[in-house]
Amino acid sequence: MIESGKIKRRHTVLVVDDHEINRDALGAILEDDYDVIYAENGQEALDIIQSDPNRISMILLDLMMPVMNGFELMDILKKDSELRKIPIIVLTAEKSAELRALQMGAADFITKPFDMHEVIVARVGRIIELSEGRQLISAAETDRISGLYNRSFFYEYVNNLFKYHSDERFDCVILNIEKFHSVNALHGREFGNRVLRKIGEEILAFLKETYGIASRNQADRFEMFCSPQKDYHALLVRVQDAVNSISGKENVHLRMGVAPWEENSDPVTMVDHATSACNMVRGDYQNPLKIFNEEMKQTELLHQRLLDDLYTAEKEDQFKVFFQPKYDIQSDPPCLAGAEALVRWYHPALGMISPGVFIPLFESNGLISVVDNYVWRKTAEQVREWKKKFGFSIPVSVNLSRADIFEPDLAGSLSRIREMNGLESEDLELEITESAYSENANLMIDMMSNLRRRGFRLEMDDFGTGYSSLNMLSEMPIDVLKMDMKFVQSMEVSETNLRLVKVIQDIAKLLHLQIVAEGAETERQVALLREIGCDLVQGYYFSKPLQAEEFTALFENELKNGRVKHDNTRTV
Ligand code: C2E
Ligand code: CA
Repeated sequence: MIESGKIKRRHTVLVVDDHEINRDALGAILEDDYDVIYAENGQEALDIIQSDPNRISMILLDLMMPVMNGFELMDILKKDSELRKIPIIVLTAEKSAELRALQMGAADFITKPFDMHEVIVARVGRIIELSEGRQLISAAETDRISGLYNRSFFYEYVNNLFKYHSDERFDCVILNIEKFHSVNALHGREFGNRVLRKIGEEILAFLKETYGIASRNQADRFEMFCSPQKDYHALLVRVQDAVNSISGKENVHLRMGVAPWEENSDPVTMVDHATSACNMVRGDYQNPLKIFNEEMKQTELLHQRLLDDLYTAEKEDQFKVFFQPKYDIQSDPPCLAGAEALVRWYHPALGMISPGVFIPLFESNGLISVVDNYVWRKTAEQVREWKKKFGFSIPVSVNLSRADIFEPDLAGSLSRIREMNGLESEDLELEITESAYSENANLMIDMMSNLRRRGFRLEMDDFGTGYSSLNMLSEMPIDVLKMDMKFVQSMEVSETNLRLVKVIQDIAKLLHLQIVAEGAETERQVALLREIGCDLVQGYYFSKPLQAEEFTALFENELKNGRVKHDNTRTV
C-alpha cells in the first residue's frame, strides 16, 4: 500500500475463534484491508504469536474455546512484557465477559453476531493505529493505587462505547473526596492511599454487579460511566461505608455528582455536567449527592452564552456603568460625598443582567479583567465629565476583582486610565473584597502598597465576610473599611448585632480608617449609624445605583442645595 509517498506495511490480524463460520465471517470483513491469519483456539494462537511476535498487529479473540480459552491466552500474553503490547479485541456476545476482558487488558470488544461490517473495520483500524502510536500501550495501564483505569484509557474506551454502542444508556458519576489534601496531611499519604484503594475496590465491586467502567484521576477524583441506577444515594452510602470501615477517628467524607443519560450527549459534556453537580455539594456534608438537572443545564447554557458574548458586549458598549451615591451622615443634613461604580449588562437578547450573575462567572473563567477594565475606563471618563461640568468631582470608587490582583501591571493600567482622563489621585478609589485579602495576603500587601504609592485610596469591601484578623488589618495598606450590608441590615434585630456594628466602628477608629456602611435602607438605620459615629452611608435609603445622566441630575441638585462635600476634592 502506498500512501503520501511512503510505503505502508499491510497489517496482519490474527483471528482466534473455534467456529469456522465466525472465522470466515471476520476474514471476509477484514481481508480487503488486512492480511488475516487464523487460529482455532488459544494454544494454536499462542504458537503462532510466539513463532513471530512482530508479525501480528492485532488479535481478534473469542473467549469461549476448547484447549485454551480467550481469558487464559490473555493471561499468558499479559505476563510477557513484549507480547502484552499486541492489542486484543475481544469477540463476545455477553456483556459481563466484555468487562472482565477489558479489565484484563483487552483494548475493545466486538459483539457477535458481526452485523456492522464498517464498524468492525473502523474499530480494528483505530486500535491498530492507537497501538502503533504507543498511546494505548501506556494508556492501557491501570492506576496502580485504585486498580481502576487511568484517565487516557478511560476516555479512549468511553468514546468507543458512545460511538459503537449508541443503543446503550450510561450515566456519568463523579466521586470526590472532601479535602483530600488535609486527609493526607493529617493522617499520612499511606492512609490516603488506603482510602483510594478502598474506593477503587468498592467501585470495581459495584461495576461487576452492573455494567460500566471507571477511572481515577487528579488524585482523589473518580469518574465512572455505568448503567443508569435508580438510587445513587445507595451507591454513595456504599462507598462511604467502605471508606468508614478502614478509617477510625479519621473523618473522610465523599461527595458525588451524577449526570443522567441524555440522548445525543457526549462523554465530555456528561463529565462536565457531573462535575458541576459534584462541585455544587462541595463541603456540604449533609447533602453530599447532586444529580445534574434541567435548571442546572439552563444555568450552564446561560453561562456559556454570556462567555460567548462577552467580547461583543464590550465592543458594542452593552455594559453600562451605574453610580450609587455615598452620603456623609455626620454633616447635617447629610451631603453627597462619593459614589460607587456598579456595572450592568444590557444584553440585546436577554435584557438586563445583574452583575451578581456575570461577575462571579467571569471571575472563575479569568475573563473579569475585560469587564473591570471597561468599567474603570468608563468611570474615569464620567468623572472627567463631572469635573468639566461642575468644576470638581466627588471621589468615585470602582471594584477590583480577586483575579485583577494577579495582573502584573495593575497599578500601571489604573494610573494610565487616571492620567488619560486628567484625574487627580483622590478622584478614583478602589474597592477590593475582604476575602481576597485573606486568600493572598502577601501578594495583596505588595500590590496594594504599589497602588497606594501611586496615590490610590483603597477600600476593603464586604468587611466582615472574610477572615481578617486584627493583626492582618493593621498590616494592610487600606484607607477605608466598607462594612458588609448584612451588619447594617441586622442591626435592629438584636442588641448583639448592634454591638457588632459598634465593634467594627471601634476597629476602624483604632486603625484610623474611614468607615462606609453599605445597604442602609431605613431612616432608623441611618440614625443608628450616625449615633455610632459612622462616616459614610451607601444604600437605598439615599438612592439606588443610578444611570450616569440620573446621577448627574442628582449631583446638580445636591450642589444647588449646598449638599455636596467639597473637601477631599480639588477643583480643576
Ligand atoms: P458590592 O460591591 O458589595 O456592591 C453593592 C451591592 O449592593 C450592589 O449590587 C448594590 O446595588 C447593592 N446595594 C446597595 N445598597 C443597597 C441596599 O440598601 N439594599 C440592598 N438590598 N442592596 C443594596 P449590584 O450592583 O447588584 O452589585 C453586586 C456585586 O457585583 C457588587 O457587590 C460587586 O461585588 C459586583 N460588581 C458590581 N459591579 C462590578 C464591577 O464593575 N466590577 C467587579 N469586579 N464587580 C462588580
Ligand atoms: Ca463594592
